[in-house]
Amino acid sequence: LTTLADEALIALDTMADRATALWSPSLRLGVTGLSRAGKTVFISALVHNLVHGGRLPLFEAQASGRIAKAYLEHQPDDNVPRFQYEDHIADLVDRRVWPASTRAVSELRLTIEYESASAWGRMFSRGRLSIDIVDYPGEWLLDLPLLGKNYEIFSREAMELADLPVRRDVSGAWRELAASVDPDADADEVLAQRLAERFTAYLRACKEDGRALSTLPPGRFLMPGDLEGSPALTFAPLPIPDGRKTRPGSMRALMERRFEAYKTHVIKPFFREHIARLDRQIVLIDAMQAINAGPASVADLERALTEILACFRPGRGNLLTGLVSRKIDRILIAATKADHVHHEGHDRLQAIVRRLAERAIARADFSGATVDVVAMAAVRATREGEVTRGGQRLPVIIGTPLAGETIGSETFDGETETAIFPGDLPESPSALFRKDAPPPSGDAAIRFVRFRPPKLERTAEGVTLSLPHIRLDRALQFLLGDRLS
Ligand code: GDP
Repeated sequence: LTTLADEALIALDTMADRATALWSPSLRLGVTGLSRAGKTVFISALVHNLVHGGRLPLFEAQASGRIAKAYLEHQPDDNVPRFQYEDHIADLVDRRVWPASTRAVSELRLTIEYESASAWGRMFSRGRLSIDIVDYPGEWLLDLPLLGKNYEIFSREAMELADLPVRRDVSGAWRELAASVDPDADADEVLAQRLAERFTAYLRACKEDGRALSTLPPGRFLMPGDLEGSPALTFAPLPIPDGRKTRPGSMRALMERRFEAYKTHVIKPFFREHIARLDRQIVLIDAMQAINAGPASVADLERALTEILACFRPGRGNLLTGLVSRKIDRILIAATKADHVHHEGHDRLQAIVRRLAERAIARADFSGATVDVVAMAAVRATREGEVTRGGQRLPVIIGTPLAGETIGSETFDGETETAIFPGDLPESPSALFRKDAPPPSGDAAIRFVRFRPPKLERTAEGVTLSLPHIRLDRALQFLLGDRLS
């Protein structure tokens, strides 16, 4: 599946990375997750907390005062867009709005100067570690399995997925058009475009109206990056009768050629240039949204996580490893937005994510890298409190809901702080993994209101403190701790 040229290019890149690392230690940290999982917010909060000396008690190097300074530097790759850190922080901190989400790959270099933890290490010089943060859409990662499939298999699987009960209604318009197409008829560009449009509209619909469905290749159909409108994206699955050969000049031949072009010119270079060079990876997931949408969405998220982990499966046993990093030694699966539940719910959320990850690890037959899970909020938009209602004390979260958000008949104006009883996550994760269980309702459902980013406190000297978070320090310790010892 991978050519010798692919392998040679990866080997050259790896050698160049290692040579540079000799005089300037660096670590490439991949940040991924499906759209809206929280990548942009995570990277912004991580950098802000390190640069501004945030409160990170579980991040040992910072807590023990060994970090002398952390600052941004020029990134090593000139051909990759820079992560727009300053703009995102201006949004979060000054305007208190959420920044624009990840649409394509971008990169940022953060350098940390630190004292070694050992007296022996301190005798030499101050340590320096450059962290190259690579932000990329998880949708692109989910393209990797396509390399192992031909157009016929891709078509068959896409048809099966579209026919699942949770997807049947949103995929109807596309399936109807596809069913009317004769794959052996002469190629027709206009029809190809209409098929691609309807297929893309179906994939988009899966993400909308609270469905939170996750598994949606080809990734560029949802996140085209700079390929918007390109012929490489003008294809779609067709119903192909078993065992029939492709007729040259037919609709099927056209689709097949574009599918192969997508593999060669889109998927492979992305893996070769970005994924193969990563050292560590964090995978962000929006577990809360999936939990609220019910077991079908949880199963879908699990399927996506399984496919993501399969992409990082090392070793020759993996058909696709030629293009995948053989270096990644730690992967963190992080459920963001834990600030939407009271702290009593954080451990429950983490238990659910652990269960999800364990099943995904088993299904992906994953081994190699150390995998950990965390329930966190990169930016904590709420505080906690208690209200007494009917003589009962209820734990609540307090924040400023975004303008237009509603609970029952109440619509928020985006300015007023409000206390919300968020609801409870299930005590045992099991119910979420039972296919026949209905979506949670009443008190069992999380009242999921989107809040504005928090107002930052200022010290007596007028210095703005760093962004508040939940367990960001635990994530940093796992991802970076050992490299700063
Ligand atoms: P991306 O598509 O993965 O880059 O997702 P973003 O980082 O843009 O996050 C999508 C949305 O999720 C944001 O606009 C926020 O509304 C919300 N969000 C992300 N992270 C957090 C968090 O830590 N806390 C809260 N309360 N909301 C978050």
